[in-house]
Amino acid sequence: MTVRGSEHDFIVIGAGSSGCVVANRLSAVGAGTVLLLEAGGTANSLLHKIPLAATKLWFNPKTSWSLWTDPEPGLDGRRLPVPRGKGLGGSSAINGTVYNRGSPSDYDQWSDLGLDGWDYASLLPYFRRIEDHWRGADAHHGSGGEAPVSPLRTPSRLTPYVLDAVRQMGWPVTDDLMGECPEGIGLSDLHVDRRGRRSSAYDAFIAPITSRDALEIQTGALVHRVLIEDGRAVGVEYSRDGARWIARARREVILSGGAIASPEILLRSGIGPTEELTSLGIATVHDLPGVGRNLTDQPGASFEVACKQPFTSTHDLRIDRFARAMVQWAAGRGGIGAGPPMVAVGSVRTRPECRTPDLRVTVTGATMASKVWWPGFGPPPPHRFMVSFAVAHPKSRGSITLASADPSTPPRIVYNVLTADADIVQIRRGYRSLRELIAKPALADIAGDIVRPATEPADERELDQYLRSVAGTTSHPMGSCKMGVGADAVVDGECRVRGLAGLRVVDASVFPTQISGNPHATAMMLGAKVCDMILGRPPLQAAA
Ligand SMILES: Cc1cc2nc3c(=O)[nH]c(=O)nc-3n(C[C@H](O)[C@H](O)[C@H](O)COP(=O)(O)OP(=O)(O)OC[C@H]3O[C@@H](n4cnc5c(N)ncnc54)[C@H](O)[C@@H]3O)c2cc1C
Repeated sequence: MTVRGSEHDFIVIGAGSSGCVVANRLSAVGAGTVLLLEAGGTANSLLHKIPLAATKLWFNPKTSWSLWTDPEPGLDGRRLPVPRGKGLGGSSAINGTVYNRGSPSDYDQWSDLGLDGWDYASLLPYFRRIEDHWRGADAHHGSGGEAPVSPLRTPSRLTPYVLDAVRQMGWPVTDDLMGECPEGIGLSDLHVDRRGRRSSAYDAFIAPITSRDALEIQTGALVHRVLIEDGRAVGVEYSRDGARWIARARREVILSGGAIASPEILLRSGIGPTEELTSLGIATVHDLPGVGRNLTDQPGASFEVACKQPFTSTHDLRIDRFARAMVQWAAGRGGIGAGPPMVAVGSVRTRPECRTPDLRVTVTGATMASKVWWPGFGPPPPHRFMVSFAVAHPKSRGSITLASADPSTPPRIVYNVLTADADIVQIRRGYRSLRELIAKPALADIAGDIVRPATEPADERELDQYLRSVAGTTSHPMGSCKMGVGADAVVDGECRVRGLAGLRVVDASVFPTQISGNPHATAMMLGAKVCDMILGRPPLQAAA
């Protein structure tokens, strides 16, 4: 096979939420030349643009890596799907477009782990700088940044009822999950442009700068490994168009392959636990036991409720209404196409002693079975809505390991969902709290029978059986190349791989613990912050 070569100041692996921001900042005037390598394609189909269509992208191997976990021991051996975006924009090109940051206390916990400069007050200026928020600039929001943040323009008719029930639970209702009171339940903003199109990290950070001479983008470039010489990353080996390529980096290699692929690429490069590498016949370049460990995703489950009013997606998805909505979306005037079928989202503390929100809540005016329907062809689908809940800060930890040294073989993933006792206790608490919410007077004229589970679990054993039979994750994997100061940390507080020079990991794999919100904004913020470190700039002034 032919080997071809090129040389650049920086090589960025993966054009996802973090990688696009990194490639943008490092290719700015005077910074250096950048090669951005992305294994997937352009990810610019119509389905990518329509926020409502996101679910159609999750299990298509052209748009998603479509991975699966190994049998999950806490789920009676059931395997879980692991959708990850494949193509320019990465997971931000297929995600639910929900845009928020979680609770400030999530980040203060990072700082408490010894990570100076990762508290919320220090990160807020970076969150603000990347945003062009519909509310304009103020102490909590940014304006003029690359990422358009828009409101949900067509809220569900269920929303006011659910928010009243939230109040009756004694939980906070917020009209701004990134404002003065970011905790509680409300409507999240979206990473969608003002015309209602998805704005992936690629759309926001790379599409406007493709003419920069300093930036070269290659799609269809599957990175095999990072090349290390004398303890320093000097380049990468990848395949593209049937050829083998070597690209050399004069300054740094930045690995932004995401929480599944970044540890996978490190392991293939000989960076990881020696014993594991040896068993696969990979020579250890640098013994780093934490690579691929500490993997965490939020265990979640849901139940479905019959809706007494015609307020769910069943109303909107009748073919004539749906067709009108698509015309409305195409004209850039919002409508249901411009957002997910969100009724209410957020995170709450179910117990006063919690330091940070412990339960994620998502109410959706649709179920996974919702689809466009034609009147006259059988009865209309029933009106149902879905109540989902997830453990905000799970204790279970999983791992990414290699199944083979061959880069075309998918890695082995196991989340160990619900293996920690604390997580099963918390998910039960989530179920019970939300059953209580549905029974509140505010929903008396809305919520009918619970249709899934078909019968109410009679006791704790049956409830556990139900939860273990339906539980999945929120598709927010992180932590597999943990940032920290302990022996299990893979990168330091500047995202440098510990013990090596010229190599950083910059993506959700470095988040040391879960955040209680949705991680795409955090992944972009991370890219912006670490680039200041790479370029030797002083950090932005922390918020007061
Ligand atoms: C189905 C789904 C729904 C979600 N919904 C939301 C939501 O509504 N809101 C939210 O905030 N978050 C959501 N998320 C999570 C969020 O999108 C991710 O946490 C975030 O995008 C992760 O960013 P990243 O930079 O770490 O990785 P990614 O964005 O996944 O980027 C990694 C990139 O690396 C590329 N890559 C991987 N391996 C290689 C290789 N060997 N060579 C070259 N390139 C490679 C990938 O193709 C990809 O483009 C969702 C995620 C999924 C999967």
